[in-house]
Amino acid sequence: MEKGVPIANLFGDEQKWLGKTVIVQGWVKTRRDSKAGVCFIEVNDGSTLKGLQVLAEEDKNYAGLLAKVTTGSAILAEGVVSASPGKGQRIELRAERIHLYGSADPATYPLQKKRHSFEYLRQIAHLRPRTNTLGAAARVRSRLSFAIHQFFQLRGFHYIHTPIITASDCEGAGEIFRVTTLDPTRPLAGGVSEDPYRGDFFARPAFLTVSGQLQAEIFALALGKVYTFGPTFRAENSNTSRHLAEFWMVEPEMAFHDLGDDLEVALAFIRHLVEVVLNECEEDVEFFGRFIDSELPARLQNAAKSSFEVITYTDAVDILKRSREGFVYPVEWGIDLQAEHERYLTEKVFGGPAAIIDFPRALKPFYMRVNDDEKTVAAMDILVPGTGEIIGGSQREERLEMLLEQMRLKGIPADDYRWYIELREFGSAPHSGFGLGLERLVQFVTGIPNIREVIAFPRTPGHAEF
Ligand code: ATP
Ligand code: MN
Repeated sequence: MEKGVPIANLFGDEQKWLGKTVIVQGWVKTRRDSKAGVCFIEVNDGSTLKGLQVLAEEDKNYAGLLAKVTTGSAILAEGVVSASPGKGQRIELRAERIHLYGSADPATYPLQKKRHSFEYLRQIAHLRPRTNTLGAAARVRSRLSFAIHQFFQLRGFHYIHTPIITASDCEGAGEIFRVTTLDPTRPLAGGVSEDPYRGDFFARPAFLTVSGQLQAEIFALALGKVYTFGPTFRAENSNTSRHLAEFWMVEPEMAFHDLGDDLEVALAFIRHLVEVVLNECEEDVEFFGRFIDSELPARLQNAAKSSFEVITYTDAVDILKRSREGFVYPVEWGIDLQAEHERYLTEKVFGGPAAIIDFPRALKPFYMRVNDDEKTVAAMDILVPGTGEIIGGSQREERLEMLLEQMRLKGIPADDYRWYIELREFGSAPHSGFGLGLERLVQFVTGIPNIREVIAFPRTPGHAEF
């Protein structure tokens, strides 16, 4: 197969390519015919947002197939890179040869030149990566994924793989997917008295993971600093613009780190990721600023430079109570902060990212470390304008007695977590970690309002197409 030059390379070094003969391969974005027998074909190959203008002439030997080179078709064009007299581009390709790999019938091709709604594009998730917005989001997501590994690898973290199928269900109570090979339409042979898991694959209840944290703790207490990065599942039954049933989470876990250290890593992490996007996804960010969210570039500049506000839950509640904002959910010490409260804090009070720490003990899971006041735990939520919470983390309870008390209070059977308890019996050490939702991060750095557009194939209640 002939190998072309990625269009991104041509645009990256236009002087070098001028006068050279190259091959490009991609999909026709638009096509315009001039009276002078010249046809302007914009070809996009996904390597970059911008397409390359290909000039095809009707007296060349490919003239016969030009009629079929319509929007959506896949082509190869070979020709000389030339200075473009036209507006909006410095170079173009004068085609000497064109090959049509696959045509696309203009009468039925679902992507027309106009702007389509995100809702419509979701129904054609097999074609939507060819749109500017979805293509740019996919590139940014890819670059961020790499930057996540870079950040941790350069700081001595080990990448570990925690299981996707787990037996621990405490965390996701009510939000957890069951894994079974039993047929729900076939009653148990032994009737209702039969142990329902006897004939099941794992011979016990099993679930899709809601977090790799508990298993990551095992490795932090052996390798020091570790992280996981993988798919996570939550049967969230609410339909919001920030929740998916399947999403990707990054979870670092660090021995000998307290909440303050955890916070420091999280803030450096976010700042690093924002910088990578600003420096290496310039064209895509500019596009998002122009078409999706005009405040995006300023918001990112701000997040890369400014220090984040750190505030206790108790102080945050005081601020919210004093505010004159008419919240739907009234504010009292002890409530779970809602999206409206988070947005008010980041957008109106701080005007930038903020971390809330030391949440009421009753709101948070059993493994978070109880503070000296015994009313709060060493937890942190990091909020950003627009998206709200992107990180949730905590220092973990490393004291055996306190862990057992927390489990008793929250009704978690110690028998189910023998191994977790043993980590506190054998060489326990202070440790902390957090989870960052990749899709929430991509939303934050692109300004894309709905989480369904920053993942290729969104899974939400009632939707698991493609
Ligand atoms: P929220 O209150 O927004 O539902 P959470 O408190 O359930 O979040 P955590 O359990 O702390 O979230 O998970 C860590 C991170 O994972 C969150 O900060 C968020 O970035 C991401 N996350 C959590 N649930 C989802 C979801 N259903 N879809 C996408 N990302 C999610
Ligand atoms: Mn949640």
